[in-house]
Amino acid sequence: MNRTCWNCKKPLIFEEFKEVNYDFSEERLKELWNNPNLEFLCCNCYTKTIREEVKKLLIKGDNIKESLESITNPTILRRYGLICFMRGKVKRAKMAYKRVLELEPSDKNTWKNLGHLYLEEGKMNKAFRAYKNALDLNIETLYDIRDYALFYKIKGNTEKAQELLGKLKILLSELSLLE
Ligand SMILES: [Zn+2]
Repeated sequence: MNRTCWNCKKPLIFEEFKEVNYDFSEERLKELWNNPNLEFLCCNCYTKTIREEVKKLLIKGDNIKESLESITNPTILRRYGLICFMRGKVKRAKMAYKRVLELEPSDKNTWKNLGHLYLEEGKMNKAFRAYKNALDLNIETLYDIRDYALFYKIKGNTEKAQELLGKLKILLSELSLLE
């Protein structure tokens, strides 16, 4: 079956479709590809759509919680969460990540990011549990937990980076004690 982008009408290629949806089996992808009731977007249009949805969320006021709950695409929520995090809007970032985890409970990076946010708030028990979840899903996460402190180094706040690294050290030693 020949498919075109629902938005720009550019022809779509099954091999590319497979590449971007690597978490589905080939059989399942063929089923989706040949389903006449489904429409697909090319990579460009998809990225554009995501950006627009994130933009809409960023200009939302107080009723953000309901807006986040209505979103079912974790990519939008992850991107929004990251932007909020970078802008220091911890509460909003946390809401976005919690929503991601409702949709994808085994998203280790989001558990890790949630851990960073709790750490930032000084909520050590919650940070610990979030990191623990991330590590249970993939031990490799242990190595990139440190990238958080790097964020403050880049921003020129070495004091904050040191403080966070200190706290992380305590958490990490507790986590390895559990092994
Ligand atoms: Zn397109």
